[in-house]
Amino acid sequence: MVTSQLPLWSDKDAAQGWVVRESNRARRLTVRVFHTGRVEVVVPSRTSAVTVERFVERHRTWIERKREEARARAVPVAPFPPLQIDLAACGELWRVHRTGVGKRLRLKPLADGLLVLEGDTSDTRAVRQVFRRWLTERATDFLGPTLHALARDFDFDFERVLVRRQRSRWGSCSTRGTISLNCCLMFQRPPVVRYLMIHELSHTKQMNHSRRFWQIVGRHCPDYRRLDRELLDGWRRVPSWVFAEDNPA
Ligand SMILES: [Zn+2]
Repeated sequence: MVTSQLPLWSDKDAAQGWVVRESNRARRLTVRVFHTGRVEVVVPSRTSAVTVERFVERHRTWIERKREEARARAVPVAPFPPLQIDLAACGELWRVHRTGVGKRLRLKPLADGLLVLEGDTSDTRAVRQVFRRWLTERATDFLGPTLHALARDFDFDFERVLVRRQRSRWGSCSTRGTISLNCCLMFQRPPVVRYLMIHELSHTKQMNHSRRFWQIVGRHCPDYRRLDRELLDGWRRVPSWVFAEDNPA
């Protein structure tokens, strides 16, 4: 896949995060609006700029409507540092307690679902990093073994698991058998997390979304349609600090 920025739209569009991506695999033009309002147009390689422009013009009303919806659904701004963190996936509710004590900025988990934030918290960016690191670690500890257990129970085979913070996808499975999971799954309900894992594990047998693929998914997760829809909307459950921009406003 190649990512390119074609000079197609006004500066205003570019500033709002419009991206054109050329794909060798794409057979036709598609457009996607992410929960953040980012617009991505995927085009087959060597599509002319004029063709792309016409395509976008034809779909502009739809795109704008989707962006409006994304804005309306945006997570309300919560205080930062957060007062609590609800990791629904593993049923943990962490309260955050701030102490000015200690030189080094760090987040220390204590028993009883208590997270202690120590040190100088004046640098919001640094504090966010600390929370993000904690989230990724907690997600790795929980999601990794959960995936392994599911694979064992249902006889799936994969090479390794990576847990990452990603803006646009919940999981993926490579041809080499690497399954990537988004740490934001930690904010989703357990059945949704289980569905996503079954979905990615099923890709180890079918690297596509064919009928056979969905049959495999359905065998282990009959309710997959509803859970897939819930996951699509799962970005709403992700606290704003997970993706907030690091540049001070
Ligand atoms: Zn898939």
